[in-house]
Amino acid sequence: MNSLEITNRIMRSNKLFAKKCFGQNFLVDDNILLGIVENSNVEAGDLVIEIGPGLGNLTEYILQTGAQVLAFEIDTDMIEILNGRFTSHSNLTIVNMDILKVNLEEYIKDVKGKVRVIANLPYYITTPIIFKLLEYKENIASITVMVQKEVADRIASKPGSKEYGVLTINTNYQADVEKIFVVPNTSFIPAPNVTSAVIKITPNKAKEQELGIKDGKIFEELVKKAFSERRKKLANSLANCGLCGLTKPEIEEIIKNVGLKETVRAEEVSVETYAKIANEIYELKNK
Ligand code: SAM
Repeated sequence: MNSLEITNRIMRSNKLFAKKCFGQNFLVDDNILLGIVENSNVEAGDLVIEIGPGLGNLTEYILQTGAQVLAFEIDTDMIEILNGRFTSHSNLTIVNMDILKVNLEEYIKDVKGKVRVIANLPYYITTPIIFKLLEYKENIASITVMVQKEVADRIASKPGSKEYGVLTINTNYQADVEKIFVVPNTSFIPAPNVTSAVIKITPNKAKEQELGIKDGKIFEELVKKAFSERRKKLANSLANCGLCGLTKPEIEEIIKNVGLKETVRAEEVSVETYAKIANEIYELKNK
């Protein structure tokens, strides 16, 4: 039976409807399910964290790699189904929890192999999930996830484009991002209103070191505040937000020091230049 048939059968026999509030769009195209797992380079001995296993279509393919699978699912109805579908799999642990409330450290600190994340994400919390996972970048080898195509475009965008923003910069300064393939909405049940895409985020320590960011927290706060009013001049947005307690003249001085025009807007500034601004702020605060 293919994933489409399995999904229809499970939903019919359990009188189940996909829950919009949990972002439930079940992926039923076997080529895409396999493609996600193949692109994540999982090996037996790795720990794969799956977020939102749902009815288990993606879980089925991850389990075939021989890796240990740790799946976090918020919907109790899904837990019963998953337990029934995967009774004979000793390499699967299912946890009935909201991924945003999980202390991942507890689960990954003693893992010997690589930790990888694979998921068809619930789209309503894509950004907080990605930022949460990046907090564990020292321990996570890769994050291969289905997201809305629009989010994939934002993450992979370049300065000056309308997609370029907080998500682009705060992901790209610490990781490499690849757009792997685009997925039509017909690959899901029910079909979402948007086109999707699979992306792979690979944390990259060298990239962060090359940028020479002295304080990641200052950098991320700077970027968030810079884009809080993206149409305004950067100096005004930063001064209005009270960035790190700096005065407007101090901010204007920093903008000049890093070689930017006084009229520059947030979306015109590269990741490298944000790193320089953050370091100037760091120096000023630690004088
Ligand atoms: N993996 C399945 C698939 O590909 O068919 C389902 C993917 S569906 C897009 C998203 C899944 O995430 C649903 O099963 C949903 O219940 C679950 N989910 C939603 N919010 C969650 C949260 N905060 N924590 C964990 N799981 C969540």
